[in-house]
Amino acid sequence: MEANMKEVKDKNILTDSFGRRHSYLRISLIEKCNLRCSYCMPANGVPFTPNKSLMNPDEIYEISKLFVKNGVDKIRLTGGEPLLRKDFEEIIFKVKTLGTKISLTSNAILIDRHLHYLRKINQLSINVSLDSLCKFKFKEITLRDQFDNTYENILKLIKDRFNLKINVVLIKGFNDNEIIDFIKFSSDHKVMVRFIEFMPFYGNKWDNSRCVSQDQILNLIKSHFGKDSLIEHNNKKNFIAREYSLKNTNSKFGIISTITNPFCDGCNRIRLTANGKIKNCLFSNNEIDILSPMRNGDPYEHLINLIIKNKLHTRAGMDNFKKLNDPNFHSNNRSMIAIGG
Ligand code: SAM
Ligand code: SF4
Repeated sequence: MEANMKEVKDKNILTDSFGRRHSYLRISLIEKCNLRCSYCMPANGVPFTPNKSLMNPDEIYEISKLFVKNGVDKIRLTGGEPLLRKDFEEIIFKVKTLGTKISLTSNAILIDRHLHYLRKINQLSINVSLDSLCKFKFKEITLRDQFDNTYENILKLIKDRFNLKINVVLIKGFNDNEIIDFIKFSSDHKVMVRFIEFMPFYGNKWDNSRCVSQDQILNLIKSHFGKDSLIEHNNKKNFIAREYSLKNTNSKFGIISTITNPFCDGCNRIRLTANGKIKNCLFSNNEIDILSPMRNGDPYEHLINLIIKNKLHTRAGMDNFKKLNDPNFHSNNRSMIAIGG
């Protein structure tokens, strides 16, 4: 796709060569996790960065401040499992002082220990992963017996009226038979459920035949509730999920169709890994270290600009199914656990 020359003249360091302004920073705080979701964490694990090479709370704050100065207005804290960081409370309160929208992605296992201060964070939005409503399947996909904790903590978040979304990665033959149950869960609890197409990352045994597509999800919902039951919402400019509601229910749901219907045109997302590297796309193995120059007292703003300008238009160059199916394109990338989603 050709760059839009008018917008390329935009001097903002967070504007790429297609005129996309990056205003949403997703910061991974940790590479470790208390679950082992097979689509995220490779079976043989990942090499963890030593703690001293992970960003500390002051560094996270300073880097975030630079991004905010350049137009970032939304920050998400993710991981690994961000609540495993002993200094998570300090981090979120420091970042919060920057005045952006703030959000958290968590598996919710430890949420109850953090609720007392999370409640104080105005307009915090929380995304929680839950891939099955069945205890045994939850254990099968996460390799940990943590369904009850997760589920109870989700109910606590709902009761406390947090701005909550449930993320469900759909895998054919594993949990696609729970789509209607999740829709009912959404309606019963008045909570947004987002179905995510299974994406390829290093070591996650991705195969297109295991991906449940946007069309398959919509067709199933229409055949269950009636073809006129769906109401499609107007998507915001930089949407990630296409959102819907269902007539005569309280259900709201979204589909993150990165594989079959990507939304790269309006991408405003930039990622910072726990060890201080900028990634310009979830699927890109092109990274720039900004933590080292920062620690050395060297400038690094131009490095951020460089990697933004190098961003390709669609899924880091995987712009068709042939490339997506070619492991050479994604096996050099990090595993999702070390990116943060
Ligand atoms: N531990 C937290 C959690 O699970 O929500 C935060 C980190 S996790 C990497 C962030 C999100 O990435 C989760 O919603 C997870 O389901 C999603 N994710 C991980 N691997 C994925 C994959 N291969 N395809 C699609 N989504 C994936
Ligand atoms: Fe952990 Fe989240 Fe990855 Fe599951 S999806 S292994 S909870 S980081």
